Amino acid sequence: MARPLIADIDLDALRHNYCLARDLAPHSRAIAVLKADAYGHGLVPCARALAGVAPALAGVAPALAVACIEEAETLRAAGIETPIMLLEGFFEPAELERIEALELWTAVHTAWQVDALLAYRPARPLTVWVKVDSGMHRLGFPPAQLAAQWARLAAAGDRVRDLHLMSHFATADSLDPGYFQCQLGMLNALASELGAPTCLANSPATLAWPEAHGAWNRPGVMLYGSDPLESANEASRGLAPVMTLRSEIIALRDLEAGEPVGYGGRWRASRPSRIAVVACGYGDGYDRHAEDGTPVLVDGQRCRIAGKVSMDMLTVDVTDIPEARIGSEVVLWGQASNGALLSVDEVARHCTTISYTLLTGVLPRVPRRYH
Ligand code: PLP
Repeated sequence: MARPLIADIDLDALRHNYCLARDLAPHSRAIAVLKADAYGHGLVPCARALAGVAPALAGVAPALAVACIEEAETLRAAGIETPIMLLEGFFEPAELERIEALELWTAVHTAWQVDALLAYRPARPLTVWVKVDSGMHRLGFPPAQLAAQWARLAAAGDRVRDLHLMSHFATADSLDPGYFQCQLGMLNALASELGAPTCLANSPATLAWPEAHGAWNRPGVMLYGSDPLESANEASRGLAPVMTLRSEIIALRDLEAGEPVGYGGRWRASRPSRIAVVACGYGDGYDRHAEDGTPVLVDGQRCRIAGKVSMDMLTVDVTDIPEARIGSEVVLWGQASNGALLSVDEVARHCTTISYTLLTGVLPRVPRRYH
């Protein structure tokens, strides 16, 4: 029998979450962000589910976004014809030929990219998204330089078409609206000065800030069912988990009170205890920082991790679940066979991290199974 660890990917849930993002912003078009192997869910199957390449699935997403040209090439090689945006643009001028050949949309965020674009002679003008730094202080033109770079691109009609303004929010997930409002105010002013259509909203802004919805939005993590908001709202409560990381109990140990479990003996039984060994570890991408008490579902019932996560295994206190057996289902996050849910966001909090790192961290040795 194969090692019992699998990542079940529910493509209907992915499409449900996409439709939620779309319906929350009826006047915007939602670009599905599929970078980092669709946040660990599998780039091509997720793109097919959203772009409607498979004949059984009607297309929904008008565009997809990835971080680099290699990801876009993988999509084109798989027959995906939907427009694809390169969120960070290109990393060297030589990529422009591939961008043109693959009919990609490119962001530009820095002067050398504009220079390279204007020096390039495409057969047909390229679709360009100009990124402004409205406060993230990561990528993008400083606001004071934007108008000049925009004007250079706008004047090059034979090389560039469909100029859009894009930017990224630093705090749209936060309960404190101060900094977000500041970014949005600046972006509204810049967009009206340039008469530019915008693409601003990530998942938290899509879920919580309708005033940030532009001609286009760019939801990412919400498509995979994770709620990025500091405090859930009605919309985010409608998200469905896409990935279920599912394993089984492979061994059981009965311990006396006082006996330790695992490396360093971090967890110690406070009473006679039954420990289940589960076939999932940090060598599969499960976070080694999971603390004692991190929840898992054993046959759909909540139990707690006891002891440090090992490379290929983790250990769970099942003392209160007498029916736990070798072969019992263990859900590390997602939905158990009995319908019980454990959100990846809750697990992430116990690992002092965010769902993004858990989802993108599931390693290739974990087979993905698509439904
Ligand atoms: N847009 C850009 C430029 C990003 O870098 C990201 C993700 O980091 C997204 C959109 C999607 O963000 P989220 O996954 O929070 O929706």
